[in-house]
Amino acid sequence: MNLTDTKQAILLLMEYAVNDEDIAAARELVERHQNDRISLNVFHEFYSFLPEAKNDAIKFLKLLADKEGGFLLAVGTVNNIFCYFATTEGAEFLGPLNEGIWDKEVLDFFGLSHKESIEKFKDLKKFAFYIPAQMDLKRCPVCATNHGELHRLGCPVEVCPWCGGQLTKCHCRFQKSGRDQLSNEAHLRLFKEKLNEKGRIPFNATEQSLTLG
Ligand SMILES: [Zn+2]
Ligand SMILES: [Zn+2]
Repeated sequence: MNLTDTKQAILLLMEYAVNDEDIAAARELVERHQNDRISLNVFHEFYSFLPEAKNDAIKFLKLLADKEGGFLLAVGTVNNIFCYFATTEGAEFLGPLNEGIWDKEVLDFFGLSHKESIEKFKDLKKFAFYIPAQMDLKRCPVCATNHGELHRLGCPVEVCPWCGGQLTKCHCRFQKSGRDQLSNEAHLRLFKEKLNEKGRIPFNATEQSLTLG
């Protein structure tokens, strides 16, 4: 779904999910984030599966942590504060923020324990409101990783460390894994290993944002 379709889908879902007194402010928040894939993914996930199975509305988003295009967000609503993990590909509900994060993959990704995830994010005043990634010129325009960090694997902006071309388009992935196509998880894993051995090229905002316009 493109951004406009996603936004329309969210606004439609909201008609069923949001109480009358909250809808104007909730819509306004969506409008302000309408060009940002990360937050639209969170809105879409939230309004599709209301966490507490009762009417609710998102009032604010705060950025708790982000790394390599993966965003940990506090989602403040009329009823509660929830935690989501979001990328430009999708968003995942992690539960009420005060209960901490249980998802092992997310904890490992950010190098946190469950206990730390409660302690660290207890005082929301310490965290800034989320700024739409596309407004941040230091971020990759496709996967939203920060300057100097690795892209989400599969991001078309990532430069191939072998040939200097576009990693998703050049033929190095076939050559290096010795396959005609990378058709299953094992092939992909092998390729990732080769890639990590070689050393991936992080996003460089000064060189890469400009060439993409
Ligand atoms: Zn990228
Ligand atoms: Zn290559």
